[in-house]
Amino acid sequence: MNTEWQLKEDIVRICRMLHRKNYLAATDGNVSVRLGERVFVTPSGVHKGMMEAYQILTIDPEGRVLSGEGKPTSEIRMHLLAYELRPDIAAVVHAHLPYATACTLAGIDLLEPILPEVVITLGGVPTAAYATPGSDEVPESIRGFIKDYDAILLSRHGAMTVGPDVTDAYNKMEKLEHTARVVLAARLQGPLEPLPPAEVEKLRRLGEKYRARSK
Ligand SMILES: [Zn+2]
Repeated sequence: MNTEWQLKEDIVRICRMLHRKNYLAATDGNVSVRLGERVFVTPSGVHKGMMEAYQILTIDPEGRVLSGEGKPTSEIRMHLLAYELRPDIAAVVHAHLPYATACTLAGIDLLEPILPEVVITLGGVPTAAYATPGSDEVPESIRGFIKDYDAILLSRHGAMTVGPDVTDAYNKMEKLEHTARVVLAARLQGPLEPLPPAEVEKLRRLGEKYRARSK
């Protein structure tokens, strides 16, 4: 049984990891976990490398603060929309991944099947249209993708990943940034060849098995 405090400690552990890996800078990014009708979420304006569990806010599904000091992250509506549209998930991570963001600036599409492990684990990573950070445009930009994808690139603004728990959502973030590094490095040498369609089909079938097993 997950207690509220354990889940808040998990959020802090992931925030520190995101900062250590340079997946965000200073107060950027946000992390949340859902437990029943409550959502635990990082507050606005706190450095992710120095976050403590007591600073994690408890809010209701409408975003009203139930306990804790300060305001929830400005991207809270993106988290709440993800929970609304995906009853199967219980965690959302948003970070400003440097290489993945560079892919959106360079117009590189990570939905292209390039690396086998990405096809298996994520299916692909679509890029949401640019939206002003912190505005209602951000949840609207992901609305069309979140039902089908666990990882979404936000144009000029990093990425969002979701999962059944916060470690799973974090793992997808790490995988996405790793992929972006490989793709950008390869692109320096010239255009990229996608995997052949028959291989993509095989990998997608493997992915269905992989995801069924990890549920
Ligand atoms: Zn952001």
